[in-house]
Amino acid sequence: MNYIAGEWSASGGGCTYERENPAVPHRVIGEYPESTPADGRRAADAARRAFGAWSGAPAAERTEILVRAADLILRRQTEIAAALTAEEGKPIGRARGEVARAAEALKYFAHGALRSGGQTMQSLRPGVRLATWREPIGPFLAITPFNFPLFIAALKLGPAMASGNTMVWKPSPHTPVVSVELMQAFVDAGLPGGVLNLVMGGSAELGQSLVEDPDIVGVSFTGSTAVGLDIGSRGAARHIRVQQEMGGKNVLVVADDCDLKRAAEVAAESSFGESGQKCTAAGLVVVDRRRGEEFLAEVESILKAMTLGDGADSGTDLGPLVDRTALHRANDLYDRAIDAGAVSELSGCGTSAADADGYFFEPRVVRLPQGEHLLKTQEAFAPILSLVLADDVVDEGLSLVSQCGMGLSASILTDSLSAADDFSRRVSAGLVNVNLPTTGVEYQAAFGGWNLSGGPFPEGGAGAEEFYVRTKTVATASRL
Ligand code: NAD
Repeated sequence: MNYIAGEWSASGGGCTYERENPAVPHRVIGEYPESTPADGRRAADAARRAFGAWSGAPAAERTEILVRAADLILRRQTEIAAALTAEEGKPIGRARGEVARAAEALKYFAHGALRSGGQTMQSLRPGVRLATWREPIGPFLAITPFNFPLFIAALKLGPAMASGNTMVWKPSPHTPVVSVELMQAFVDAGLPGGVLNLVMGGSAELGQSLVEDPDIVGVSFTGSTAVGLDIGSRGAARHIRVQQEMGGKNVLVVADDCDLKRAAEVAAESSFGESGQKCTAAGLVVVDRRRGEEFLAEVESILKAMTLGDGADSGTDLGPLVDRTALHRANDLYDRAIDAGAVSELSGCGTSAADADGYFFEPRVVRLPQGEHLLKTQEAFAPILSLVLADDVVDEGLSLVSQCGMGLSASILTDSLSAADDFSRRVSAGLVNVNLPTTGVEYQAAFGGWNLSGGPFPEGGAGAEEFYVRTKTVATASRL
């Protein structure tokens, strides 16, 4: 169901879509509204009407409601995590972790409402006080992807609503149940009608009409680069602000001094974790040419200990891809990569408990040739570790980052402080990890891709609300 102007409702167009469990596709999870532009229009209108009261409410009141919603999410962690695993496919332990992390993030941003403030400064004029105020702007649109449907929603809805804006939220069509659960938590926490409006559906027409809705004053988008760039140009044409968190092609450099067993563990988590469906997944792993065989042997023993299967089973390490299209795309990319000269090195987990009809893609390791290759530039969004052997791993890693044109996350594994420092300074990416996987995002720090991975506004951290407020300078003379 959609939630618009304080009420649950079907789409006015009457259309629905079915969501299936990607691990067991014959298990249909339910039917959800395939909303139309008219539904989106109603939602934006409701958000506009709710703006005055919500932005004028005491900040403490907004904080209290958001904190209450976060507590409810935590209280319902078991049910929400089970729903997340059933519709998105991630292993249940990771799903529980995401629910908890989303609640924590929401609390962190909720308190931002109280911390928010402007500055005072000396005026050049006698008897004048000069101050800046930071004010909410109006109804924002949040568009979120399927892979972290709760955490990424919390990164957007938290700072936007805490700072006094109202929202239309269009989640991924792949994760309808957890979107309803999150919305319900806000409703139960006492969020006034119209402040947050949930519009479900996946058509480009719906997304585009929301971006172009005259009441929407800004868009926070997370998803693929192609869609993010399209939203950016539509937003620019309307002169509204757009926050884009987009795709990645992330590089992990294994320096010559590091322990290869440990390096293989970090690389496997970076490339295969959540079946590679993370924007920060390591697509490219760079290893010294003389240590390639040894590294592969370590990765092979990790894969042998892994289980591919339904994320609902506690022994599962890797779940399915999110849907049939994602599986076709991954198989097609892999076949084209092999045709283009990639060498298949490893494939599959030690144990497979996967349903034959499920959308499972066995983890693979391929070795890439020198020079250009499609896996050096295209995001796989599947558990494919592309190994690049090099004589100078740091130089090769830096050059791969520039070649792909993206710049989300990069890692170096090394005991050398100077190598780590040099890499961190030179790499063109918004997130750098030293002796850690390329994955792992903390809400209290800024997170934003560079180049084709993002726009000028990062998410997260104490500055998260910057995107959602505008500055007014107020000069006051003590008397006329
Ligand atoms: P997607 O781009 O297909 O969809 C994201 C959202 O955009 C969905 O809600 C979708 O319905 C909506 N959408 C699709 N077409 C649209 C259009 N024309 N106009 C407006 N909205 C539209 O992405 P996905 O498959 O859900 O997620 C995977 C992608 O997201 C990967 O590329 C991944 O790297 C990226 N991602 C980035 C980050 C980050 O923080 N940088 C985080 C997570 C995922």
